[in-house]
Amino acid sequence: MESRVVNKGQISELLDKLAKDYNLFAPVKDETMTLFRRVSGAQDVLLDYNNSDISPKGCFLPQNEKTFSYMYTGDSLEINKPEGAQKTVLFGARPCDIKAVLTFDPVFEGVKFGDEYYSSKRENSIIIGLSCTKVLSTCFCYAMGGGPCDITGSDLLLTEIGDKYYVEVITEKGQALVDAYSQIFAKQDTAQLAKDKDELAKKLSGEFVRKVDLTGVKELMDNNFELPYWSGDDQKKCISCGICTYVCPTCHCFDIFDYTTGDFTGDRIRCWDSCMYPEYTLEAGGHNPRPTRKERIRNRFMHKIKYHLDRYNMVGCVGCGRCVIKCPVNIDITKIINDLKEVAQNA
Ligand code: SF4
Ligand code: SF4
Repeated sequence: MESRVVNKGQISELLDKLAKDYNLFAPVKDETMTLFRRVSGAQDVLLDYNNSDISPKGCFLPQNEKTFSYMYTGDSLEINKPEGAQKTVLFGARPCDIKAVLTFDPVFEGVKFGDEYYSSKRENSIIIGLSCTKVLSTCFCYAMGGGPCDITGSDLLLTEIGDKYYVEVITEKGQALVDAYSQIFAKQDTAQLAKDKDELAKKLSGEFVRKVDLTGVKELMDNNFELPYWSGDDQKKCISCGICTYVCPTCHCFDIFDYTTGDFTGDRIRCWDSCMYPEYTLEAGGHNPRPTRKERIRNRFMHKIKYHLDRYNMVGCVGCGRCVIKCPVNIDITKIINDLKEVAQNA
């Protein structure tokens, strides 16, 4: 694997060039929130952030997305689809959020049901990750197979070391980009920077305060769908606000509706939805298979640590800690995992 160096003094030049040549998505400050959005140049980008309030998942699964427009003329139905995705760079995403994109891939690019809107964005995107420089008290990526400097899923990973960024080239897409911008991605001896990165990764891995261990939890869930635990007081606190699912980088439930623009014309829109809403599973006949908070909470957490593993052999949580921070009633996935582990041990 090749590696390069970018001097910090050249990062603005890099961002400006990327914004000119690509749709550039990068972290920005929007009033009190940090989130990812399309930017027009370096002046918009926030490089010094810990973990964004909203993940970059919208780059691949936008919060609202027109899938097609329709027009019924009386004789025929005309369908117009948007053009495929433009060349895009997602810059500055943290390793946990990039790993989260990998959890989307088998869902939207499954063998049986490929999703052309998602695939087009994935194919036309380059992901430039940015290693973390701090571990928050809510982070637990290490327990989900990740890490603050993990290269998984990035095309390039930048790690800030002193007045430089150490650049790891991970994929052919990443290689093509560094070659195209070779005046910025300098070829230098990177042996010391590689050592510094390892040191940083080691230092950060010692800073996690949350102890989370998944051992035995899936096996418990495999055999115990009706655990009394799910009816406990902690779980009853949920107010079905759905915030946990909106901020979660791996949650991908969506709804589809028609936005009519005339008697016979309209747009079909896909938008984020949440399995924490009572209406999410409400069927037309009035039956709801997840009628209470107990079933909805159970589904969300079983999806993360059992169903996604069953279907795609990967955990459906990357340990970003956003749901822990944002839940208004302090429902905490790390506590749930540890509680379930205790139940498993005492079973
Ligand atoms: S479940 Fe919570 S901690 Fe896990 S990826 Fe989603 S928001 Fe992050
Ligand atoms: S954020 Fe908390 S209260 Fe809101 S739906 Fe999620 S678990 Fe329930």
